[in-house]
This record gives sequence, C-alpha cells and structure tokens, in this order.
Amino acid sequence: MSHVFPRHTKSNLPLAAKGDGAYILDANGKRYLDGSGGAAVSCLGHSDADVIAAIKEQLDRIAFAHTSFFTSEPAERLADRLIAHAPGSLDRVYFTSGGSEAVESALKMARQYFLEKGEPKRARFIARRQSYHGNTLGALGTGGNAWRRAQFEPLMVETSHIAPCHEYRWREEGETSEDYGLRVANELEEEILRLGPETVIGFVAEPVVGATMGAVPPVPGYFKRIREICDKYGILLILDEVMCGMGRTGTLFACEQDGIAPDIVTIAKGLGAGYQPIGAALCTAEIYDAFVQGSGFFQHGHTYIGHPTATAAGDAVVKKLTEGGMVARAAQQGEKLDAALREAFGAHPHIGDIRGRGMFRGLEIVEDRATKAPFDPARAIHKKLKAASFEAGLICYPMGGTIDGQTGDHILLAPPFIISDDQIGELVDKLGTAV
Ligand code: PMP
Repeated sequence: MSHVFPRHTKSNLPLAAKGDGAYILDANGKRYLDGSGGAAVSCLGHSDADVIAAIKEQLDRIAFAHTSFFTSEPAERLADRLIAHAPGSLDRVYFTSGGSEAVESALKMARQYFLEKGEPKRARFIARRQSYHGNTLGALGTGGNAWRRAQFEPLMVETSHIAPCHEYRWREEGETSEDYGLRVANELEEEILRLGPETVIGFVAEPVVGATMGAVPPVPGYFKRIREICDKYGILLILDEVMCGMGRTGTLFACEQDGIAPDIVTIAKGLGAGYQPIGAALCTAEIYDAFVQGSGFFQHGHTYIGHPTATAAGDAVVKKLTEGGMVARAAQQGEKLDAALREAFGAHPHIGDIRGRGMFRGLEIVEDRATKAPFDPARAIHKKLKAASFEAGLICYPMGGTIDGQTGDHILLAPPFIISDDQIGELVDKLGTAV
C-alpha cells in the first residue's frame, strides 16, 4: 500500500521502476508502451541521456540559488531559447514550477497590466466551456469544466464561458468549417459586449484542446477572428499551451499553425519533458514591465522561479526539440500515427471521430457511429478503456468528457516524439485490443 498523497493512498498502482525510451517498466518487469506521455509530458521518452546529463552537470555546479539574489546560466539560456522561437513579440519569460502556476501567473500579469494602465475595472476573464487550465484556485476559476468547478463554487476569478470550437460536434449541416469557426469565434464579441468591454481583461483558451476534449484542433480562421476581436476591444489573448505546446502538435508553439500570436502564452509539461517540474508564462515586454515594476498593487513570485536544475532540463529539452529536430519528428511521426489510427479505427462502429495534430491525437468513443450518440456516462467507458489498455501494456489517457451531455468518452494519445514506426504499430494494436 502506497502512502503517497493524494492520488495513491487507496490504490494498488504498480511501481514505476525504470524508463526505457517509449516504455515504462514496472517493478515486476512488465513493459508499458507510453501512449500518452503522462498526459503530454514525456515528449523525449523516458531515458534521454542528454537531458539527464544536463541536469547532473547543473547539480554538480549548484542545485538552487534564490532568484531574489541570483539568476543562473541555464535559466538565462532557456529564456533566450524560448524567446528566439516564440510567436509574435513574446520576449519576456516568467518561469514557474508547473502548468497551474504558469496559468495563475498569466492571469495575475494580465490583471496587473490593466491596473498599471489605470483600468482597474477590467477584472474579468472569458474562457470556454469544458476547458481546463489547472487546479489552483485562479486557474480552476478560469476553466469551464463544470464538474471540476462545481464543488468549489463560487470561484474567485470572475470568468464567463463561451462555446469551444469543435466542428465534429457542432458544425451545422451546410455550414463550412470557416463559417462555423467565425460563428463560434463571434460568441466572444457577443460576450464582451454583454459584459461591457471595459470590464474584461482577456480571453483564455487552449489552441488545441487536450485533456477535457481529446485533442480537438480549431477550424481554420477561428483564432484569427478571436485575435481580431481581442484587438478590437483591447483585451488580452492568453493561450494555454501547457499541454499542446513544446512541439506536441508538430510546431514548437501550437498557435503557429493558426497564424496568430497571443499576448501571453503558458507552457509546462513538455518543457521539462518529465525530467524536472517546470513551466513558464511568456509575454510581451509591456505586460512584463507592468507586472514586475508596477505600482505594486500586489506582489507575485514563487520560491522556485527559474530553478537551476529545472531550467537546465528545460534548456536541454528545448535544444533537442528545435536544433535536434524533435519538433519536426513529432510532425512526421504524428502523420504516421494518424494514418495508422484511421486504418485501424476509421470504420469502427464505436469510434465517432479521429482528430488532432502532430503527436497529439484523440479518438471519440460513441455508442452509435451514425448518430454520434455517446455512451451513457454511467457506464464509464473511459475507465474500462484505461484499465483494458493498461492490462494490454499500453498507457493511454481516456476521459469521460461531456459537454451538455453531447460529447462521448474520448482517448487522448500523446506518445513521445521518439516513437518508432514499429512502436506506432504496437500502440494501435494494443489500443485495438482494449477498444
Ligand atoms: N493547462 C492545461 C491545458 C493542462 O492540460 C494542465 C494540466 N493537465 C494545466 C494547465 C495544469 O498544469 P499542472 O498540472 O502542471 O499544474
């Protein structure tokens, strides 16, 4: 019996004993193919010698120095690397210990930015239904995931929620993808006008929706229209790339494929690739300056900002993603994974949809393929799938995400970018056994 709090106290989980490329071995020697990278974390697999060496080297120099006194080489290097590849004019980096802290920091940066501009009435956010942006109070308050919010209502961050962009579910007959995208994007403008533009700080969204919807990409033009609306009303566009960023979708930042740049972007998960806990919020100099040098309405800071060994890991990871060609590999292997999934499940009676970008793929499980009717949530199909695939030696990430009772259970796949062609075949075979 494990005594690790909180998830494991009542469970009989196997012990993770060793990482080997795309596999995790438990203490009994059973091998699991990592088809979800621990929810899109392990982009480089589990035994990357370069990242491990970078961490060890930094540990030998110095493990920790508080950022009120020191910066560190790896933190500066990683910040430069991220800025060099960031979309638009995001040229400041605030490091955090993970995703929720990155989102939390982004929300506070955005709030402080308007305080410094003398617009204190701007105090609300707009996000999307069924979204997840983290589990701390601010991030949870921004997310639109009804069941996660319910027990904590009223939440402290005032947020209202508009429709997500999910054409497989809600594109109407006769409507083109583009028309659909404009229709749902325009909900943002309606909501801004309903609330009063002078009260809104920003719009928060994941470019490709991960855990809660199962790798749902936006339709072309959706984010361009969102960007236009934000600009029209002077509100900030905050993109949450905690899950879909760092090469996962085939470009370092997912929003590159939508031809837009946000005012703030959050990253985590793939940034440390599981070797160290690290996240970041990247923003413009204008926002950052207001945040750190402003009138000090509130203070912000965390003990582990820019932690030397965490940033050493992040630096080695991003170097590998960019200079080492791993982002390109995610795009290339992602196409193969998509093709293999379509071949295996394209006509399956219980697979309603196969979607995603790069190494970020989702399958929707439905009771009836023709009507797209989901399974009764009481049957908890996702839990059965999780158990069956684990039994078969595959780690995947099924969830029972339902918006207004309409979307089915889904499986999120986010394997390491190093996955070989044969391992893609193994993944699809094992998933087939589970399904
Ligand atoms: N945002 C998104 C989009 C996420 O997927 C997650 C984690 N699943 C978070 C924020 C929170 O990140 P963390 O769990 O590292 O706090």
